[in-house]
Amino acid sequence: MWTKLRTACIAIMVASISLSAEAAQAAAGERWDLTELYATAGAWSQSYEHARADVASLDRYKGTLGSGAEPMFTALAAISDARRELLRLYSYASLRSDEDLRNAANLERKQQAQSLLTELAQKTAWLAPEVQSLGQAKVRAYVEQSAALKRRFDFFLTETLRHAPHTLGVEAESVLAATGDVLAQPHSVFEQLVDAELPFPSLDIEGQKIRMGHVQYEKYRGSDDRAVRKAVFDAFWGAFNGYQGTLGSNLTAQVMGDVFSARARRFGTSLERSLFEDNMPEAVYRTLVAQANAGLPTLHRYLRLRKRLLGIQGELAYYDNYPSLFKISSPPHFSLQDSRRITLEALAPLGKEYLGLLRRGTGSSWSGSHPRLGKNSGAYMNGLAYDVHPYLLLNHDDDFESLSTYAHEWGHAVHTMLANADQPFEKAHYSTFIAESASIANEMLLGDYMVGKAASREEKLFYLGKQLESIRTTFFRQVLFAEFQLQMHEMRERGEPLSGASLTERYCALLKHYYGEAQGVMKIDPLYCNEWAFIPHFYFGYYVWQYATSMAGAAQFAEELQGQSAEQARERFIAMLKAGGSDYAYELYRRAGVDLGQAAPYQALIRRMNRIMDDIEALAPPT
Ligand SMILES: [Zn+2]
Repeated sequence: MWTKLRTACIAIMVASISLSAEAAQAAAGERWDLTELYATAGAWSQSYEHARADVASLDRYKGTLGSGAEPMFTALAAISDARRELLRLYSYASLRSDEDLRNAANLERKQQAQSLLTELAQKTAWLAPEVQSLGQAKVRAYVEQSAALKRRFDFFLTETLRHAPHTLGVEAESVLAATGDVLAQPHSVFEQLVDAELPFPSLDIEGQKIRMGHVQYEKYRGSDDRAVRKAVFDAFWGAFNGYQGTLGSNLTAQVMGDVFSARARRFGTSLERSLFEDNMPEAVYRTLVAQANAGLPTLHRYLRLRKRLLGIQGELAYYDNYPSLFKISSPPHFSLQDSRRITLEALAPLGKEYLGLLRRGTGSSWSGSHPRLGKNSGAYMNGLAYDVHPYLLLNHDDDFESLSTYAHEWGHAVHTMLANADQPFEKAHYSTFIAESASIANEMLLGDYMVGKAASREEKLFYLGKQLESIRTTFFRQVLFAEFQLQMHEMRERGEPLSGASLTERYCALLKHYYGEAQGVMKIDPLYCNEWAFIPHFYFGYYVWQYATSMAGAAQFAEELQGQSAEQARERFIAMLKAGGSDYAYELYRRAGVDLGQAAPYQALIRRMNRIMDDIEALAPPT
């Protein structure tokens, strides 16, 4: 679930019928109205031709930046304005394409917009080196001379100068650019093997012959029948066992590529390189790992509770992680209008201004909310059209997951509205660290609200159980991944050999440690220790830890928004959202009272987890 929810939502991933006719039929929040981006497909094409001409002419500014603050502003503004229109063009193309993925014209339009974005990058490749060659003193002096330059471009210029020590000469840069395709191959090999060619056995499940695979694994691993989930695990991970060497070599190639790219750009380590983009202090990564380790007794408490609630005799096993803690006789049902009403009520702690924007957005034709034939799956918010408003793709299925996704994605949308109103285009785009914290805080406020309003003990337990499980998957599981990634890269950086066998050994030690084998909490079957071989995120550098970190930040915000100084907490939280991307995520958090390099946010999350378990134990005491 977390891969779908937590990663799809920030990706920019929506009809083929006449749009104006559609808009006319759409009730508020059911269908989006793309005519606010472009009145017709023809208007899009016209604007596309203009943008193409603009992009083609951008190299006329090359060599002009050093002639003064005024010429620098003119050049930067021309490039930024072209980019702003291109993002609007891309938004329309991509949203229309997601309305009906089978429509070829939509797909072509999307490809056109993507190509133009690539062309913009190529046509302005000279920009960063030219700023860097002017040097700190001259650039600073220009920024002080021109209020317009300062207002829109000071942070961009600071960022460009910060990259100078890691920017190479023209020849070296072009060689590095050419390595991109080669370095992306391990992920292609992984997909080819795992999604297509790996031979999975067939199993008899509930009287049916099922050929095991990725989809079946996810479907049956949560079975209430313990024998079924064990058989599913044995078959799935058993199939991986025969390919440990191949997948190990392939993941090693990925790690080698990460280390190569970091060293080529003069970074001490691959971790340092990945933290560089957000200017995140290394202490944040280290604190996250240390605090998750300090919180393991709480994870172990959860696992013991799970064992008791599932009625497991003997040792708890790794395949016991997936069945839901609480079943509900009639699962709650939420229409789209219910989701809107409940979200507005649950987010009351965020105050008038926030709720006003949420009411406005959810009452407008900004979202495509229901599943339809041909429409893209998942959920996301697209906030790329700075001059218009955010758009949301949802696939509201009228269950609690849908309600929770609604609160999450609208969290991204209100964040975008606040940032766009307060920041110029150049400083509005925010970091994932801030984005996910804002949207996960919404999910937490919603969870607490649902528990408070639940009509029965059964319903209360259902909502408590959901929240508890999301902390295991979004926090502990991902920090385990983060720790494993760090170990792999550090081994390579120390010159130690990596192989399928050594990766399995490392991963096994982490599983045993996290799941408390020595404490008698869970017994890890060595067969499942090749789980690393199936995690696609390892092919995208250090990445999963952003969600774990953001969840900890969200826990501190949620706690403070419902605490003694709720008003001040709200002001700081809203100020952080309004700040958009005008500063680094760590700084913005710190100003909002949350220091990700200290224990406090992680401890707030652990406290939340313990509080939920206290509530569960009070409602479902041991018999
Ligand atoms: Zn999100």
